[in-house]
Amino acid sequence: MVDLQSQYAKIKDVVDPSIQEVMESAAFINGPKVHQFQKNLEDYLGVKHVIPCANGTDALQIAMMGLGLKPGDEVITADFTFAATVEVIALLQLTPVLVDVDPVSFNIDVEAIKKAITPKTKAIVPVHLFGLAADMDAIMEIAKEHDLYVIEDNAQGIGANYLHNDGTKTKTGAIGHVASTSFFPSKNLGCYGDGGAIFTNDDDLAHIIRGIVNHGMYERYHHDVVGVNSRLDSIQAAVLDAKLPHLDSYNEARRHAARKYTEAFKNHPKIITPSGRTSCNGICETCDCHVFHQYTLNLKDVDRDALVKHLQENNIPCGVYYPIPLHKQKAYEDERYNQEDFKVTNALVTSVISLPMHTELDDEQIEFIIEKVLNFVNEN
Ligand SMILES: *Cc1c(COP(=O)(O)O)cnc(C)c1O
Repeated sequence: MVDLQSQYAKIKDVVDPSIQEVMESAAFINGPKVHQFQKNLEDYLGVKHVIPCANGTDALQIAMMGLGLKPGDEVITADFTFAATVEVIALLQLTPVLVDVDPVSFNIDVEAIKKAITPKTKAIVPVHLFGLAADMDAIMEIAKEHDLYVIEDNAQGIGANYLHNDGTKTKTGAIGHVASTSFFPSKNLGCYGDGGAIFTNDDDLAHIIRGIVNHGMYERYHHDVVGVNSRLDSIQAAVLDAKLPHLDSYNEARRHAARKYTEAFKNHPKIITPSGRTSCNGICETCDCHVFHQYTLNLKDVDRDALVKHLQENNIPCGVYYPIPLHKQKAYEDERYNQEDFKVTNALVTSVISLPMHTELDDEQIEFIIEKVLNFVNEN
């Protein structure tokens, strides 16, 4: 699904000296590389504060702690996403409220959010799933109307430009009250281990969060709040700072592969190609509000699992993200949920398939993958 070895080979002469610098300085924790990467990422995203931390799951948890969410507060998020999102809500003893997604964008359904709001609702967590910006204008409007926080889970969307209804653009992660991201190696901006970050434009919230990541300390050995230990180590920051200047070209390489796939599959009666949100006038296929963390097809009348097997037999890796809706996971099932409210997720888990998508795919590989997919779909 990813080819991190080939990617590393091309940037080895920038990454290696950057790592070496950390080792020679022995500034392993909170060294100058961490600060440098933080500043560079703030500039890239156009966000006032980036607070690095240990991974994307911590980033979400710390964002919720920073907002002062309390046990019993309800937090609305998508049923169709990676479990980390709902996990931290439950871990903090907040009440997760899972809602259905949009059948076209696969992102949280704005109408479903509206239906799920109660007097206990405190926050909405949109996920920019597979790299496509969620419908942020609509979500921010609902949040304003009901006085809710918006926490963007930007683990899959870093570098995407959200196109506002007024035609301006903002990078995902710089729109909500606070956002989280992950630098897991396979993410669009990945390090060589674990890493994550929290973003916010709010100075007071940034201050609170900087203390939380450091054991609740605002002054040495004075612990004002219950915090955690969550740090991005200097070696990972060195890798990320060397890779950040490549992020736009990496995302463009993903979009190039996506355009090739879409060109080949777009009018097929059994294949629905990924597209943007409807309010984007369908231009997302080519514009930059999608950074294709995954390239995910929605199949109609195709034996998905047999296709997975067929691709594997041809040495083509593929993935099913996600095979089980979160509301059906043992840890998160709840009698409040009604299957009728999850029609889209319940169907998507049986029909989606993600094709290889990374920065090093060449046209020959893409054409081989297209051929094997079409052969199977046309014959079955
Ligand atoms: C990867 C991911 C996370 C968690 O990131 P980690 O760094 O692995 O903890 C959270 N949310 C989403 C949507 C992700 O894809």
